[in-house]
Amino acid sequence: MSITYQNGNVIAQCPSCNGSLTTFERVVHGKPLGDVVVDKMHQFEGISYPRIIWTLMRCASCGYGGMAEIHASNDPKTGKLGAFYPHATKTNKLPTSIPDDIKKEYREAEKCYSFKAYRAASALVRSALEKTLKVNGYNSKSNGLERKIELAGEEGIISAALSKKAHDKIKILGDDVLHEDWREVTPEEAEESLNYTLRILEAFYDDRDTVLSILKSKKRIKDA
Ligand SMILES: [Zn+2]
Repeated sequence: MSITYQNGNVIAQCPSCNGSLTTFERVVHGKPLGDVVVDKMHQFEGISYPRIIWTLMRCASCGYGGMAEIHASNDPKTGKLGAFYPHATKTNKLPTSIPDDIKKEYREAEKCYSFKAYRAASALVRSALEKTLKVNGYNSKSNGLERKIELAGEEGIISAALSKKAHDKIKILGDDVLHEDWREVTPEEAEESLNYTLRILEAFYDDRDTVLSILKSKKRIKDA
């Protein structure tokens, strides 16, 4: 999900082009689409610039609008890109039978990730994991999340390896964010927690009929 600035254009994912990498152009038919110029001597990434140019852009493929913050001297083309909007969100394909609340929680975690809010993403996938276990009958108040994950492994819904990953990469990370002193969560940690949560969701919801029969046999859920 890299964003680059080349020759006055931004190469970024376009939300309206299914998240494909496209060129956002500043100059159309020989004219800039529109700039807001702030003359202000300032530092950006260790270099001094005399102005910030907020410039309107559009996706060259579909016309979707964009806005770039360029730290520049006289020519915006030689400037350095700061912020860029829109943030395109990479969305994973989720099993269709996932309950709506869990799906929304996971999608919001993906949004946080795309905004580089890695701590928030990690907290939300921990929540999505806990909700998934609870709604599938792993809801005993005397069992913490750690035990609930173990039970889903012991009862064969998720593999032993995935059970361990869920504990190490989702629960512990989420607990760190929610309960421990502030620390940075890296993009890699957040991405892993999103990926392992996806695998848990797939384990519970891809082959839903088989999972339901196991959950019934384990008295996790009642026969309909
Ligand atoms: Zn587009």
